[in-house]
Amino acid sequence: MAGKVKAEYKELVRTSGVRMIDSGLTVATWGNISACDREEGLMYITPSGMNYHTLTNDDIVVFDLEGNHVEGDRRPSIELQLHRGMFNARPETTACIHTHPIFSTVFSSMGRDIPIDLHDEAAQALGGPVRCATYQLPGTQDLADAAIDAIGKDSNACLLRSHGAVCIGADMDSAFKVATVLEMVSEIYWRILATGNEYQPISAENVAAMQEFVKTKYGQY
Ligand SMILES: [Zn+2]
Repeated sequence: MAGKVKAEYKELVRTSGVRMIDSGLTVATWGNISACDREEGLMYITPSGMNYHTLTNDDIVVFDLEGNHVEGDRRPSIELQLHRGMFNARPETTACIHTHPIFSTVFSSMGRDIPIDLHDEAAQALGGPVRCATYQLPGTQDLADAAIDAIGKDSNACLLRSHGAVCIGADMDSAFKVATVLEMVSEIYWRILATGNEYQPISAENVAAMQEFVKTKYGQY
């Protein structure tokens, strides 16, 4: 028995698609976004190949976490298995954003990981090193499996080889924060390497201290 479909989740995914395009994290109809209602065991995902600015809530497609179609007439994003796999592998998350941002994709195309001891914000927001998955064709189960393997249990993001990035979060704002920090840190890393330099790593002790600080002391009650 499928859970109850909720309008607010369709609205969240639709408006987040506009937010993704307007933020410059992706262009045209690429990238995809999903949100998971843990209470009902349902996920909401953007449709395949449609303009984010003209989507309506009815264009958002709903599935359960076993992959059964629940609601929506549109063909879902070709990366449905990637999003569903993330929600199943990381039960603490409810939002997944797949983007094609320039600097993150520079590293994905080199097959290189992004370290988090490069910058304070990376250490605070990314959870663990942003590993680059092995190359797999878009829209395949192999790509979903490679991404889930790369993100592991510690990181909030991974790179898809020669393709883009995947970012997850406890909620949509957290996933966007991860996507934004990843792209900023990728640009910093690229600039360091482009000038023939290497960065001075933050100590493991200080990275751990910042991660603890974010969990317990940052922000408001
Ligand atoms: Zn893509």
